[in-house]
Amino acid sequence: MVNITNGKNNVEYLVNEIELYKKNIERLELIFEAAKEGMWDMDDDGNVRFFNSSFYKNFDVSLDKSTLNEWIHLVHPEDKHLFSENVVMQKIKRIEVFKSQYRVKNKNNEYVWIEAIGKAQYDADGNMIFMVGAHVDITERKEHEKKILFMAYHDNLTSLPNRNLLEKYINEGIKNCKSGALLYINVKDFKYVNDVFGYDIGDKALIRISKKLEKNSGNDGFVSRISGNEFVLLLDSIFNRDKIEQKVKYVLEELEQKIDIEGRIIKISTCIGIARFPNDGIVAKEIIQNANFAMTIASKKITPSYEFFDLGLRNKLLRERTIDNSLKTALENNELFICYQPIICAKTGKVASMEALLRWNNVDLGVVSPFEFIPIAEKNNAINKIGDFVLEEACRQGNILNEKYNAKLRVAVNVSVIQLMQNGFVSKVISIIENTGVDKNNVILEITESCAIETNIDIIEKIVKLRDYGILIVVDDFGAGYSSINNLIQLPIAGLKIDKSIIEKSLANDNVFYMMQAVVAYAHNMKMTVVAEGVEDKLMLDRIRGLNVNYIQGFYYSKPISFNEVIEYMENNKSI
Ligand code: C2E
Ligand code: MG
Ligand code: MG
Repeated sequence: MVNITNGKNNVEYLVNEIELYKKNIERLELIFEAAKEGMWDMDDDGNVRFFNSSFYKNFDVSLDKSTLNEWIHLVHPEDKHLFSENVVMQKIKRIEVFKSQYRVKNKNNEYVWIEAIGKAQYDADGNMIFMVGAHVDITERKEHEKKILFMAYHDNLTSLPNRNLLEKYINEGIKNCKSGALLYINVKDFKYVNDVFGYDIGDKALIRISKKLEKNSGNDGFVSRISGNEFVLLLDSIFNRDKIEQKVKYVLEELEQKIDIEGRIIKISTCIGIARFPNDGIVAKEIIQNANFAMTIASKKITPSYEFFDLGLRNKLLRERTIDNSLKTALENNELFICYQPIICAKTGKVASMEALLRWNNVDLGVVSPFEFIPIAEKNNAINKIGDFVLEEACRQGNILNEKYNAKLRVAVNVSVIQLMQNGFVSKVISIIENTGVDKNNVILEITESCAIETNIDIIEKIVKLRDYGILIVVDDFGAGYSSINNLIQLPIAGLKIDKSIIEKSLANDNVFYMMQAVVAYAHNMKMTVVAEGVEDKLMLDRIRGLNVNYIQGFYYSKPISFNEVIEYMENNKSI
């Protein structure tokens, strides 16, 4: 028998429970509606039992009785496979929780990025009963990630690919057996553009340059900005040297065109280094570095210029860089010393002076010729300190020789134009002479002729001051390279040293011989003495005598010898 009172109570209880349940559902729905994410609930047949409208109203799906297929229909074609793979995996592999990201078309026909997280429930036999999950719109995060990725691979100013992307691109190309040429483009003296026109205009000029290069890259080219003023133009399909050269010339011509930025006319000059791949390298870093080597060589020429990579050139440049580096510490490591080569009086056959010739012995490089290291020292300014050392050492040793053996013996020291350009050079020379105690009239400075000497008033004034102080100034290497009659007329020089090369020519060619005879006669008229350099044997000596030079220097008499050997030489020739 049913207890009516109890039955009534049970019904009431059930009604209350149902009400509570309904309220809970309503509450849950409210929470889901308020949520920014999409919530879904799907049975094992793919029928969606619940979609919260706040999220899914933005998509073309039925909110009351949608299916999985309806959703898949909106997924981006490229991501569909990924989506279905995930669902299949879920069913087969019975992974309780899955996570995936894909694009879905919204009602505005735009694709948004969705992150889907799902959790499935399985029965005792392992069959899926249902799956619930959430969809989160991660479009903004994806955009941000894309931006960061773009920034990691692109240059901020020009939006061109940067070195990272260039390297990736080349390496992938090489993997796919591509061949081509890498043009390493350096915009020379760009700092000057920034200084003169300001950074704003400078930036715009760089953007303009990048556009010019992009225009030149063609269909299969690739342009990259790899440092402030350096770009790379990659030509994927050109390998033939003539064709590359043709293209390079065209690019150089384009880049040389004036750039007009807000009425400011900018003219830039460029140089290009070219490396071909796979010949000049099989990994991106190597190819770029080799093109950079070629560019450094090209930059030494008159611009616009270009150079193809060449192993010999690279080794030369590497040696130059090693010399440049090691030279900076050569003095403090006591690697430098002086040898002397006697200069003989043509009439008496006696030693008149000794030319100080610098020697460098480095642990790694061995003995390096001054022909090789002096020009590098001139470039990196090490020549000033090195020059001071030579002058000081030569004056000190010269003084020893004067006091011990021959008071009239002179010491000749080579001086670079760079040294002459220094402020305070004259006072420095004077103080070295006075500190070492050598007789100033026994000091000769040998200066190699150059255009700078002829045109730089400051240098001419210094030479005059040194001459007035009592030092003899001699022009070295006359007749080799730069030779100017102007110098002979305007400089207060005491003598000329005729270069070995012109001496050799005058032996082989009568016309040169007669011309040199005239030069010597002119020098004597101007009260200058003349030295013939590089006399190696008796035959040369006899012929040279016909030039009527005052002094002779060369291996015939002696090679450059160490100071100890000079002492020995003086001991054995005390009468000289
Ligand atoms: P330079 O001043 O014209 O010196 C003459 C060069 O010719 C020396 O070479 C000498 O060894 C070489 N020589 C002398 N006689 C003969 C010969 O009969 N046959 C041949 N084949 N060569 C001969 P070195 O010592 O190698 O010096 C080369 C150049 O380096 C010098 O030419 C000079 O321009 C520069 N140099 C050497 N020492 C110094 C220095 O202390 N300061 C500066 N600024 N330059 C220096
Ligand atoms: Mg010399
Ligand atoms: Mg010389």
